[in-house]
Amino acid sequence: MSKVLLVVLDGLGDRPINGKTPLSEAKTPNMDRLAEMGINGIMDTISPGIRPGSDTGHLALLGYDPYKYYTGRGPIEAAGTGVDVKPGDVAFRVNFATVEGEGESVFEKVVVDRRAGRISETDPLEKAINEGVKLEVDFVFRRGSGHRGALVLRNTEVGLSDKVSDTDPHKVGEKVKKCKPLEDTEEAKRTAEIVNSFMEQSHRILEKHPLNAEREKKGLLKANAVLLRGVGKCPHIPSFEEMHGMKLAVIAGTTLIKGIGRLLKGYVPDVEGATGNKNTNLENKIKETLKAIKEYDFVLLHIKATDELSHDGNFEGKKEFIEKVDRAIEPLLSLDFGEVCLILTADHSTPVKVKEHTGDPVPVVVVHEGVRVDDVKEFSELKAWKGGLCRIRGLDLFRIALDLVDRMEKFGA
Ligand code: ZN
Ligand code: ZN
Repeated sequence: MSKVLLVVLDGLGDRPINGKTPLSEAKTPNMDRLAEMGINGIMDTISPGIRPGSDTGHLALLGYDPYKYYTGRGPIEAAGTGVDVKPGDVAFRVNFATVEGEGESVFEKVVVDRRAGRISETDPLEKAINEGVKLEVDFVFRRGSGHRGALVLRNTEVGLSDKVSDTDPHKVGEKVKKCKPLEDTEEAKRTAEIVNSFMEQSHRILEKHPLNAEREKKGLLKANAVLLRGVGKCPHIPSFEEMHGMKLAVIAGTTLIKGIGRLLKGYVPDVEGATGNKNTNLENKIKETLKAIKEYDFVLLHIKATDELSHDGNFEGKKEFIEKVDRAIEPLLSLDFGEVCLILTADHSTPVKVKEHTGDPVPVVVVHEGVRVDDVKEFSELKAWKGGLCRIRGLDLFRIALDLVDRMEKFGA
């Protein structure tokens, strides 16, 4: 049976400015060759007009209805940092931050920097928090890249709830927020109390930590508090293999996408030089992808920087990065398309003018032996709609791919 290689350029789609988009303007001979060899179309990753997050978009692309399986970013980020999250866990995204003010309580203090001067070495802080904080439930605190991290409260005998508020005020100059229950249940009240206790204890530990004393001496901002946001309860989500009967590999540099791969119990290697930004090592990612496709049935190759550059409103930068990706994917054109179904697409549009995700459909091309090749000869969101796939959704694309590689079961007799 054939395998599926899904290549996702995050936020690739755009809205034309004077009739041009970064993708339509970029010189992309390899992507255009794929368009010529395959069947093309446009795709609403979730549904027409819906603005997907990268997490919900990828769930759909992997054949999971996000309305059924998505329960917030916290658990996915936590899985991405390497925590083995379990169903029922309540997880938050964490920022190390700098706070200032009189008194003991963290909630009396004002946020000076939400990223603690973009601190990068947080290993000792992670250790001190895990050793020093005592809560009435088990927890895992894990640092991520840079100033980021994750907090997981483990649902043991006592019930926990994700219906609680952030402690991150999301703004500099405001006080750290108390976590509040957002529904009138014992679980929500208890969770808020536990979170607030974590906030106070971690602040006391960080405030006195030698690493912060050192940072202060060097004139750097202290990482003396953690701010929590993006709470979610880890869903009961079947693994990719249970759900689809295929072995999954995810080649990505971004914590969020690695997190999805880990939640679905896929193989998620740490690729050397894969950073999730425009300086990422694309060659290494392609190498890993070609290795993975030999062993796994479904490989997701995710490339993030197209989205970052879009959020920055950088038309020229996005165009140039697309050209860089085009050069890097050249080895994929030599795959045997009798054995591999190659899909090139995006998880959503992020127009450079909007600097945010939008519901504009994205281009998609599917290359495999036996597809009904159409007249589209250029990979572009302005041309793809003319192709034979017409307009589909992310869940449709997943099924279409499975059908093409003969892994789809018959409906009816
Ligand atoms: Zn995205
Ligand atoms: Zn984005």
